[in-house]
Amino acid sequence: MIHYAEHKAICEVMMQVLIVEPQSDIHRYNDWQEWIQTRKELMKTIQQNLNRSLEPYEKQMILWSKTCFICHQQAELKTCQRCFSANYCEEHANAFRTKHDGYKCDQMMLMLNIDIEIISGRTNDDSNTDDDENNVDSNE
Ligand SMILES: [Zn+2]
Ligand SMILES: [Zn+2]
Repeated sequence: MIHYAEHKAICEVMMQVLIVEPQSDIHRYNDWQEWIQTRKELMKTIQQNLNRSLEPYEKQMILWSKTCFICHQQAELKTCQRCFSANYCEEHANAFRTKHDGYKCDQMMLMLNIDIEIISGRTNDDSNTDDDENNVDSNE
């Protein structure tokens, strides 16, 4: 809300850029590097259109947009129903499960929970340690 004016500007520019390249979201990338390269080009285009450099959160918004974990296409994605942080396309459902399930999924779930804690402002270390101490004390 604080950055609403800025936000509005970048949203408009992003819409324009995306309209210019309507096919880009179904494009499949050969590897991660190729995907990042196109993101960097997109950032440059947006920067030129905005006439200012991008804020870190705006760069993140562009770099971490929803894509298939395997091919980085952006259309018709499904989301991991466990961590809600990873996406995959129809074609890569199996490949995704193989690569993502287990450790990666756990890690992303942890990161998501940390994000939620930070957003909700419940990061003070006085959370409920008092209760735990009381329990220990009364355990005579
Ligand atoms: Zn895919
Ligand atoms: Zn997951």
